[in-house]
Amino acid sequence: MSGRTLPEAVAPQHDADDAKPRKTDPRREGNLNPRRALFRRAIVCGGTRMPSPRFATFCVAAVLACTLPHAPRAAGQVHWDYTGHGGPAHWSDLSADWEACGAGRQQSPIDLGKATAALLSKVELHWAQAEWTVVNNGHTIQANAETAGYAMIDGERYDLKQFHFHAPSEHTVGGAHFPMEVHFVHADADGRLAVIGVMLQAGGNNSLFRTLMFLAPKQEGAESPAGQIEPRELVSDVSRVIRYQGSLTTPPCSETVLWTVLKQPIFVNQRDIDAFTAMFPMNARPVQPLYRRFVLEN
Ligand SMILES: [Zn+2]
Repeated sequence: MSGRTLPEAVAPQHDADDAKPRKTDPRREGNLNPRRALFRRAIVCGGTRMPSPRFATFCVAAVLACTLPHAPRAAGQVHWDYTGHGGPAHWSDLSADWEACGAGRQQSPIDLGKATAALLSKVELHWAQAEWTVVNNGHTIQANAETAGYAMIDGERYDLKQFHFHAPSEHTVGGAHFPMEVHFVHADADGRLAVIGVMLQAGGNNSLFRTLMFLAPKQEGAESPAGQIEPRELVSDVSRVIRYQGSLTTPPCSETVLWTVLKQPIFVNQRDIDAFTAMFPMNARPVQPLYRRFVLEN
């Protein structure tokens, strides 16, 4: 199908995640099909402060450990979920280390419907060939690689660590969700994170997404080798983005993430979306208050 615009996004729900703000920069032409951009506007968020390198490193480690390959759950590891007693409304109560999930003022995801136009720095993807592994970590399907290249965002280098999926999308646009969203998680040498989010819309065929859903282990903790896949196939135009400072959208909700959400979705087959939701019917944190942040778009 051809490009969908915002109004066609799926029905509303909730979300979360974050990143930190920075400079701005000119636009640049993306590479996928010239489909219509999805977000017409973006918001601007403000304040962002980075924690100490040491703390940031801890956060990254915690995050990666949490979302990475099914690291065996350490004894005493707190269980969390997307519904019920372990749901988002209770995350901050489940562990003293997850206070930010409730008290944070730069939490993610957010609604991207009201952004402020700005010159945003160009996003450059320098992802490299790598051996990927697909894992079911109990919260999502995630692909991990040791050395998979890097992205230049606002002039800083962030190494690609993993990417994973959410259904429905975590970020919303004017309250509407897309069927799914993929998050490419990058980290810099100091442990700061930069996540690139891409919306998934039904109405096309994406061979990599199909392959990943085929390989995706149905059993929690299981993993499958995916070989040298090309993650770039899940990315649309990187020249039109929305940027803001936020957090991880899962515990510990660390506010160490510079978020970049692409305005243009990629198009995948509904059957492949169904394959994911058969395993994870709903793994999106509700959208969080913006507070004093700015959301920027180009
Ligand atoms: Zn995510």
